[in-house]
Amino acid sequence: MNYVFGPVPSRRLGQSLGIDTIPLKTCNWNCVYCQLGRTIPLTNERREYVPTEDILLEAEQAFRSRKNGKIDWVTFVGSGEPTLHSRFGELIRCVKTLTTLPVAVITNGSLLYLPEVRQELSVADAVLPTLDAGTPELYRKVNRPHPAITFERLVDGLVSFRKEYQGRLWIEVMLVRGINDTLEAIEDIAKILQKIKPDAVHLNLPTRPPAETWVQPTNEESLMRAMSILGNIAEVVHPAEGSFDLGGCENIEDAIISIIMRHPMRHDELERTLAHWSPKQVNQALAKLSTSGKAQIVERNGVRFWSASSSIYPDDAHSRRTIPRSQKSSGNPIKKI
Ligand code: SF4
Repeated sequence: MNYVFGPVPSRRLGQSLGIDTIPLKTCNWNCVYCQLGRTIPLTNERREYVPTEDILLEAEQAFRSRKNGKIDWVTFVGSGEPTLHSRFGELIRCVKTLTTLPVAVITNGSLLYLPEVRQELSVADAVLPTLDAGTPELYRKVNRPHPAITFERLVDGLVSFRKEYQGRLWIEVMLVRGINDTLEAIEDIAKILQKIKPDAVHLNLPTRPPAETWVQPTNEESLMRAMSILGNIAEVVHPAEGSFDLGGCENIEDAIISIIMRHPMRHDELERTLAHWSPKQVNQALAKLSTSGKAQIVERNGVRFWSASSSIYPDDAHSRRTIPRSQKSSGNPIKKI
C-alpha cells in the first residue's frame, strides 16, 4: 500500500490507521523540528498530488482486511501538510462512508483561513492543528512558512474554524528548548489560545530527528512552567507505545520504507517493530536499502535514526544555530522515545 499505513501507535490517537494524501515532503511550512527533514521547495499549491481514487481504493481495502484488528482512529497525516491535496474534502467524506471509526486530521492549520478548507474539515471528528508561536516573529523562526501563510492568516483561520466547527479541536504546541519555551513565548501563545478556545492543548516535544541539528526538546522546568501558564486545558503528550501493523506490506523492505518515510526510527525500534523477521533479516534489508539509496541514517543529539533517503537533513555545518548558548540547559523530561 502506498497511501494507507498502520495502524501505528499515535501519541494522541491510540492505534491509528494513517492515510497519507501527499508525497514526501509536500508542505507550506519548514518547521525547524520537522521529523521529515527540511521542506525543499516550500509549496502552497493545492492540487491532486496523488490520485484520489487510488487513496480511496487502498482505504477500502484496509478497512476490509483489518475488520477485526484494533483501530482507534482513522487519521489523515503523513508526508507533509495533508490539506494541500485539492480533493481533501471529498477524501474525508468518502472515508466516512467506508467506516464508522472516528476520523482525525493532523494538520498545521495554515489553510484554515480558506473557507473551503474549513468546510472540508468540518466533517472530521477531531482536528489537530499546530500553534508553536504567539507572535509573527517567532512563527517565522519556528515554522518558517510559505510567504502566503502569514501569522495573521494562521490565527484568523484557527479562530474562524473554532467558531464554525462542532468536533474536537486539539491544538498541538511543539516546545523547542530556548526558542518557544521561554516565559514570554508561552505567555504570547496563551494569549492566542484564549482567542481560539480549543478543547485541549497538547504539549509535544521533538523526540524524532529534527530537521535542524540544534533543535532540542524543552527541559522539565520549562515544561512545568508552560503547563502552569496554559492551565488545565494543557497536557503533555508522551511518546506512543504500541505495535505497528505491517499487514499491508508484502516484504521486509516495503515494510521498513512504509515506516521510516513517515516515522524515522532507531535501529533497535525497527528490530522490535519488525519482530516478524529476524534481526539478521532486518540488518540485511537495511543494508540493501542503504546501498540502493532508499534509506539513510541521520544523527541528532547523539542518536541515530533510519529515515527515507529523500528526506533532507542538513549536517551541523549547514544547520544554522539560533539558540543562544546561555539559554541551553540539559535534561529531556521525556526520556523514552
Ligand atoms: S512538522 Fe508538519 S507542518 Fe512542519 S514542516 Fe513538517 S510536515 Fe510541515
